[in-house]
Amino acid sequence: MKEKYDVIIIGSGAGGGTLAEYLSRFISEKKISILLIEGGALWKREKFNQTEKDMSKLYFNRGAIFSKEMNIGVAAAKAVGGSTVVYTGVSFRPPVDVMKKWREKFGLSFLTDEFVNSRLTEMEKMINVHEIPPEYDNDNNRLFREGCEKLGIEVKRLRINIRDCKGQGFCNLGCTEGAKQGTHVVQIPSAISRGVDLIYNSYVDYIDRDTVYFHVNPPPPWTEPNTLPEGEHKVKGEVIVIAGGALNTPAILLRSKKHLEIKNKNIGKYLTLHPVYNLNGIYPEKIKNYRGHPKSFYVDQFSYTEGYYLETSFYFPGVTAKNNPGFGRMHEEIMKKYHNMMSILILSHDPAETHNRIEIDKNGNPLIRYRVNDNVKVSLTKAVIRAGQIFFAAGCEKMLLPGSNKNPLTREDMENLEKYILPSSFDFAKYPLSSAHPQGGARMGNDSAISVASPEGSVWGTDNIFVADASLFPTSVKVNPYETVMLLARYIGEQIIKKI
Ligand SMILES: Cc1cc2nc3c(=O)[nH]c(=O)nc-3n(C[C@H](O)[C@H](O)[C@H](O)COP(=O)(O)OP(=O)(O)OC[C@H]3O[C@@H](n4cnc5c(N)ncnc54)[C@H](O)[C@@H]3O)c2cc1C
Repeated sequence: MKEKYDVIIIGSGAGGGTLAEYLSRFISEKKISILLIEGGALWKREKFNQTEKDMSKLYFNRGAIFSKEMNIGVAAAKAVGGSTVVYTGVSFRPPVDVMKKWREKFGLSFLTDEFVNSRLTEMEKMINVHEIPPEYDNDNNRLFREGCEKLGIEVKRLRINIRDCKGQGFCNLGCTEGAKQGTHVVQIPSAISRGVDLIYNSYVDYIDRDTVYFHVNPPPPWTEPNTLPEGEHKVKGEVIVIAGGALNTPAILLRSKKHLEIKNKNIGKYLTLHPVYNLNGIYPEKIKNYRGHPKSFYVDQFSYTEGYYLETSFYFPGVTAKNNPGFGRMHEEIMKKYHNMMSILILSHDPAETHNRIEIDKNGNPLIRYRVNDNVKVSLTKAVIRAGQIFFAAGCEKMLLPGSNKNPLTREDMENLEKYILPSSFDFAKYPLSSAHPQGGARMGNDSAISVASPEGSVWGTDNIFVADASLFPTSVKVNPYETVMLLARYIGEQIIKKI
């Protein structure tokens, strides 16, 4: 590590990794130096053993950071590659109407159809985004399609970014084949080959206008050794970009506020979480869902009318146990049916509200404050009923619904799902929601009264401190977000290159 760099990027996930790759294209031409600082460890893919107990080490807080209200647990990874190490690789371009809203309401005029499509076409080629071929469909995907077709629901094939996938099945535990084209596989190796310096286990405490203050932790077991001594360090940067993700970028900014001499009251606010319920039905025979790709299909037909997407999914035993209702013997009996479980993921659209936010606790760590919006409860109710109909249409004999006041529900209950599943029957303290798509908290916009970063990505009140990750989203993007994160990071990169 040098004493000073032209650009320092904090965080190496979808945002930071993409930015590092883009800026590295200009290293020779502009004679610039770039440092990528990652708080998590550097893992070699041979160490990803597909075991839940071991691989939860890839995540902050071993899998989920819970809101203070205990109503939702949010997953985010800490590793070189960020959450792209554990994501499923489901690839959506941002919806046209969301881009229109961001242009018109938040002044992000650069998000034209031409900009979005040209930059994403280039990036999708680099990371091999394509429609998932039918040979990866496991039984769960097949049953979801069959159930939807029986009900006349339109099912669409997902696009994913894999190359030479061997169908290990549990993408969220790290890909042993390196098939998933996350930033740790594609962008970061390219950036390093062009001269970007990478340091890891290097957790940023705070920044001021020209210096990043961080400490180096010991490498966790099975990960690569450090290149810097453990303990406190600092490094100077002409331009400093924060890309710690929607949980950590607001926390870094809150820890740095006084050193940056900024007063912005919006830091951490307007957090959206894309709340998820993962539901399970019990199929009469054993089915094989733990090989192939966990996700082949989605339904967007109810996005505008009822406020959610449905996607296929299948999770490892611990997460499945958490997602199923019941305790003690009842729960044990349910989990014995793991090999018969069919699974559906509900992703509901939550509004950007000022009270949903990131604060910091007394140690400076991110603290999530989240209230489930009443409209989201109504959406969840409709989505759970819809998922129930799909389970039964696919041939399941029982289903387990966290929002139901009767469990399990059987075929005889099919006509009465509305009776059992009501907005008031959701007990989020008992059956918390999940999230893997935190967004906002350092939102981008042309009005500093309701945003944290300007439309060029610099933090209001500074001209050399930028944000380049999911925290920039002014509202929920309503689809799986990594392509939109990459898109914004690319735009920020173009602005930085114009400046230096
Ligand atoms: C299990 C799971 C599955 C997902 N599946 C999909 C999917 O299929 N499709 C999709 O579109 N999206 C998916 N996502 C979401 C997607 O991965 C994220 O939206 C995206 O990676 C966010 O990018 P980011 O740059 O904002 O943050 P991240 O990718 O999370 O990167 C942030 C990085 O910053 C580092 N960092 C944080 N604080 C500090 C600090 N103080 N100092 C130094 N470094 C720090 C973190 O360690 C991390 O590496 C999934 C996420 C998860 C967790």
